[in-house]
Amino acid sequence: MKPLRIGVLAVQGNFREHAAMLRRLGAEAVEVRKPEELDGLDGLVIPGGESTTFMRLMRLYGLDEAIRAFEGPVFGTCAGMIVLDRDHLGLVDIDVRRNAFGRQVASFETDIEVEGSSVRAVFIRAPWIEDVGPDVEVLAEVEGHPVLARQGRFLVASFHPELTDNTRLHELFLEEVGLVRA
Ligand code: GLN
Repeated sequence: MKPLRIGVLAVQGNFREHAAMLRRLGAEAVEVRKPEELDGLDGLVIPGGESTTFMRLMRLYGLDEAIRAFEGPVFGTCAGMIVLDRDHLGLVDIDVRRNAFGRQVASFETDIEVEGSSVRAVFIRAPWIEDVGPDVEVLAEVEGHPVLARQGRFLVASFHPELTDNTRLHELFLEEVGLVRA
């Protein structure tokens, strides 16, 4: 079988770490900076960084419309979760509160339980999910706030799975990509 071809939005932020993790899992990782680079991808990762900058650069390059038109699975982490929410691209039915755990000082790590296994989660000026629509499944919470959720082909995390050695969340995403492509 051909390896899964996964785009990583590379306008800003932690795209290299995501690409490295996807490659470790046997996927082909492609940096995406222009709309046409989404063609032929099996899935897309929107990394952490700064959501305001992401939105500005995405509009500038026409990537906002291109991502809205993209039909494959999408995994958004931290700022990547923010850009997918109701107030930004409007692709995931969630309200997100930016910098919800506090600013830089409140960056922290903790173990969360994801579908029966423990995952180390790194939170950096992290958002949390404030409200979810009926089609959203909350997969993990911290301090009573959802930090990992799934809505159909969309997976969103408040934290940075690409900054640890644990590949569980990227595996979860690639499983979904594999199912959609099959
Ligand atoms: N605080 C950032 C924002 O609001 C997100 C932080 C991150 O992606 N690590 O966009």
